[in-house]
Amino acid sequence: MKCQRCGSSSTLVQSENEVDGTLRRQRECGDCHERFATVEQVQRAIVMVLKRDGRREPFQREKLLAGLRVCARKRPLPAGAIEAIADDIEHRLLAAARSEVPSRVIGEMAITRLKQLDPISYIRFASAYRQFVSLDDMLHELAQIAFDPSPPAEQPRLFEDEFDRLLAAQGASERVPTPIASARSATIR
Ligand SMILES: [Zn+2]
Repeated sequence: MKCQRCGSSSTLVQSENEVDGTLRRQRECGDCHERFATVEQVQRAIVMVLKRDGRREPFQREKLLAGLRVCARKRPLPAGAIEAIADDIEHRLLAAARSEVPSRVIGEMAITRLKQLDPISYIRFASAYRQFVSLDDMLHELAQIAFDPSPPAEQPRLFEDEFDRLLAAQGASERVPTPIASARSATIR
């Protein structure tokens, strides 16, 4: 959605309400702060998401937004930044006018945008998302942003306290001498 005044594509949705299948969104340009409203026919059911298990479901902006919000929890982000990501992804899906989009594509779109916005939100989302593909991919992503890639043995999700636990667990797993080794060194003196 481009700003009608300056042409910027960074517009933020301030509010929205839906009446009889028509969505009215109050928007503000991120650059010139022009405020304007758009009226959209809801076409969410037209974009179907093809899930990894082969099932399909209508794309739901709110569902994506909920996931993004979890990952951005307690992060000092600009107001409306997360909503703008969901809005942008939805807009692109609708604009592409394809009847079906693999969930993988939507995941990658979210990851790309979070990566630009905030490294922590990005790690959380990418790790939660990629654990369903491969651990290697996840560790690769972690290493790329120069983060300590602690192997997430039992807790693949790096949310807040879990992350601290992972770091603590890694320190605790330093090699301890086995009883046999201790006994042997004792006899050798
Ligand atoms: Zn503008």
